[in-house]
Amino acid sequence: MTKIIGCAFCKGTGKDPFDLLSPISDCLVCNSTGLVEVGEPMGTCIFCAGTGKNPLGARVACIVCGGKGKNQVTAGFKCSQCKGTGKSGDGLPCSRCGGKGSN
Ligand SMILES: [Zn+2]
Ligand SMILES: [Zn+2]
Ligand SMILES: [Zn+2]
Repeated sequence: MTKIIGCAFCKGTGKDPFDLLSPISDCLVCNSTGLVEVGEPMGTCIFCAGTGKNPLGARVACIVCGGKGKNQVTAGFKCSQCKGTGKSGDGLPCSRCGGKGSN
């Protein structure tokens, strides 16, 4: 099952939030539709806190959720390696759960 939700990266505007190419550049996460599809059950991406933006500072989409702000997760399970934080010691996504915090 998948569900259509608003694109977190562009906040549903369909425009690149960082104006990387030009002020009217399209959002590459949702192909400028403002909507993205995520498998269910879904949970807020803990790596970017649902913003869809890479928390490491780069002006790119979150590498875990791809900019959608949500991930398909296994409900009720916490990753034993990162304790559900989705991060490894060096700030990169947890190698075990891929940054979702659940596996
Ligand atoms: Zn978008
Ligand atoms: Zn994310
Ligand atoms: Zn993990």
